[in-house]
Formats: sequence, structure tokens, C-alpha cells
Amino acid sequence: MPTHHADTAVVGGGIVGLAHALAAARRGDRVVLFERNDYCVGASIRNFGLVWPIGQHLHVYERALRSRAIWLEVARRTGIWCQRGGSLLLARHNDEEAVLEEFLGLSPAAGEHGCRMIGAEETLRFSAAVRTDGLTSALWSPVELNVDPREAIPAIAAHLVEDYGVDIRFGTAVRSVSLPHLETTKGIWHADRVFVCSGTDFETLYPQTFASSPITRCKLQMMRTTAQPRGWELGAALCAGLSLLYYPAFRSCDSLHALRERMESAWPYQRDNGIHVLLSQTADGALSIGDSHHYADTHEPFARESVNAAVMEYLRTFAQAPHLDIAERWVGYTATLDEGRTELVTQPEPGVTVVSGLGGAGMTLSFGLAEEVVG
Ligand SMILES: Cc1cc2nc3c(=O)[nH]c(=O)nc-3n(C[C@H](O)[C@H](O)[C@H](O)COP(=O)(O)OP(=O)(O)OC[C@H]3O[C@@H](n4cnc5c(N)ncnc54)[C@H](O)[C@@H]3O)c2cc1C
Repeated sequence: MPTHHADTAVVGGGIVGLAHALAAARRGDRVVLFERNDYCVGASIRNFGLVWPIGQHLHVYERALRSRAIWLEVARRTGIWCQRGGSLLLARHNDEEAVLEEFLGLSPAAGEHGCRMIGAEETLRFSAAVRTDGLTSALWSPVELNVDPREAIPAIAAHLVEDYGVDIRFGTAVRSVSLPHLETTKGIWHADRVFVCSGTDFETLYPQTFASSPITRCKLQMMRTTAQPRGWELGAALCAGLSLLYYPAFRSCDSLHALRERMESAWPYQRDNGIHVLLSQTADGALSIGDSHHYADTHEPFARESVNAAVMEYLRTFAQAPHLDIAERWVGYTATLDEGRTELVTQPEPGVTVVSGLGGAGMTLSFGLAEEVVG
């Protein structure tokens, strides 16, 4: 079999691999990307499509904003659906409002980018889906984007091929790396450097690296409605009190303790199943709804309907839409690190960089992270 050459090889056709291929191609490298499936079927097409700087660890807020700028540029060049709808974090209790207000005080960067507390009536300017009955206030953040991952991920791959000459090899698994050689299921390649962006596959390449890292698999349950009627638009993506217990930026708020205590008794099943509820939209006008979080190295393959019902029960407390008829349910998996860490970037040998562990923030952080990693 002939040997092929590239400056940079990328393993994995999810958002992390695509972002590294883009960053390397922009530097002028000849880039090859290997994806073992015929098209991406991993976390990167199973998510909400939210580019979500709000609530991320404060030290990666600027990285999230850089990613957002790249998403806008990619959207302009590919024509993908990309809503600049922002987000609303809805407070229906005083303890939720207290956390949001404390967060704003602790995060001047968010305020500088337009985050502010608004009253119940003003939320309707940003989303018709908000339930204002019983709403205390909300944190409005204008920077969140909503893309449709099923449309965006293939479009980014096509953009890399057409505009940057990246050689994308779908249906090709990388079996081993021993630079300058990569052994794939379809031949041997030569490359100067490799980025291993293999998502939740911790066993095929550099298993020792993963085994010695604080990384595990998180299983998430998701749902999608059919398209909403008459072009109805969600506007801002929505979430509420349970999300304040999920997103890391709120953990530095002293007021979180009181909220956690109330939530444990008000929503015990949701808390036991790692549920926080987000509502986003897709290119065809459907709504994405989720999700739950279960952590283990190996997961049972079954989705629990009681978990989906608990997501819907909480969603109905803060959001409404023309209809919430579910058309699809699925499970996704993320590579997730211990509390406090935002990514795994490590060099198991010269020329090889493993990038994983972006957890629930890969759509938000990958483009910015890849620029930093590729250099
Ligand atoms: C339900 C759900 C909702 C989410 N919502 C959001 C959200 O709204 N916003 C956000 O920012 N993040 C969100 N996330 C997180 C985000 O989707 C992930 O962080 C991100 O997709 C991870 O990207 P990845 O490229 O590492 O993984 P993947 O998308 O899984 O891609 C890894 C790829 O590597 C390939 N691969 C592995 N090993 C090899 C090999 N040896 N050879 C060739 N190919 C290989 C796999 O086939 C796979 O396609 C969500 C995740 C889930 C599951």
C-alpha cells in the first residue's frame, strides 16, 4: 500500500477534531483528518447546538467568546443556520435570583458583554417561550449562539475540504501512531504531528494516557420535538434554577448553598439523575430538550423514560411552546473530567497531542481551544 504524507494529522471528526483541523489549515499546514465512521455520529451531532459562554468556568469565558467569533465566521462562510438569540437564565424563586445577582457581581466580564438582570415582562422581548407566571426575574446574556449540530458538523467538514484543502478520510480508523507513521485501516500515513481528538474512545490510542487521567464517560438523555408550526421561533435559549447547580461558574457563589438545599427536597429525582433543563432550537424549527447526567466508565445502553419524563416535568415549569410533542429520543456520551478541569490536553510523546475531556462544552470551547493548542 502506498504511504501518504501530511504536515498535520487529526484523529476524530467531531467538533474537537474539526476545530484542530481548521486551526492547523489556517496556519498553512497540509492537513489530513481521519474519522472512523462514514460521518460524525458522536457527541458533536447529539447536542443542543448551543455555543454557551455564560456559566462556563470563569477562566475560559474569553476562550468561549473567541470560539463564538469563529462560529460566526464559519456560519457566514458556510451559510449554516446560526441564531444570535442569546440566553435567559430564569429565576422563579428568590434563592435563584440571589445566585444570579451574586454571579454578576463576581463576573465583571459577563457584565461587560451585556449580561444583566431583567424583569419578568422584559424576558418576552427575547423569547416567547418564557412562562412569566411566577417568574421573579432573569439573567439575560446576549452572546449565546444556537446552531443545529446535525447541519453544522457536516458543513464544517465540507468547508475544511473546499476552502482549506483538508483531506478528510471518513470510514478510516487510526489503529496506532508511531511518528512519523500512522497506521490506519486504509493504509499508512506520514505526518509531522498528530492531534488525537477521539472523544470518548479512551482505549484505542494512548490508553495509558486516558487511564492515568481523571476522565470518565457521562451519559446524557435528549429529546427533540417535531418542527414548531408557522415558523415559530424560540429566540433566546432557556434554562432555569437546576442549571445554576450544573454550570461551574455559579459554584463560587455563596448563595448557591441555600438553592442547592431547596432543590434537593423540591426536585429529588431530577437531582439524583443529574438533570438540568435547556431548551434550544434546530434549523427546521424543532426544539431540543434535555438533559440528564450519569457518570461511569461503562454505561448500560438503555434510556430511562422516567428520566425523560422528569426533564419534561421541569421544563413545563418555566417554558411553553406551540407544542412539545416528542419526535426523537437519544442518548449521547461525553468525555468528562473531574470537577474544575475544562479540558485534557497532553503530549504522550513528541509530536502527539491528545485533546479530550471538554464535557458538556465542546461546541462552546473547541474553536478557541484549538487555536491555543495548535499555536
Ligand atoms: C446530549 C449532549 C448535549 C450537549 N450539549 C452541548 C451544547 O449545547 N453546547 C456545548 O458546548 N456542548 C454540548 N455538549 C458537549 C459536546 O457535544 C462535546 O463536548 C463535543 O461534541 C465533544 O467533541 P469530540 O470531538 O471530543 O467528540 P465526538 O463528537 O464524539 O467525536 C470524536 C470522534 O472521534 C472518532 N474517533 C475516535 N477514535 C478514532 C480513531 N482511532 N480513528 C478514527 N476516528 C476516531 C469518533 O468516531 C468520533 O466521531 C453536549 C453533549 C451531549 C452528549
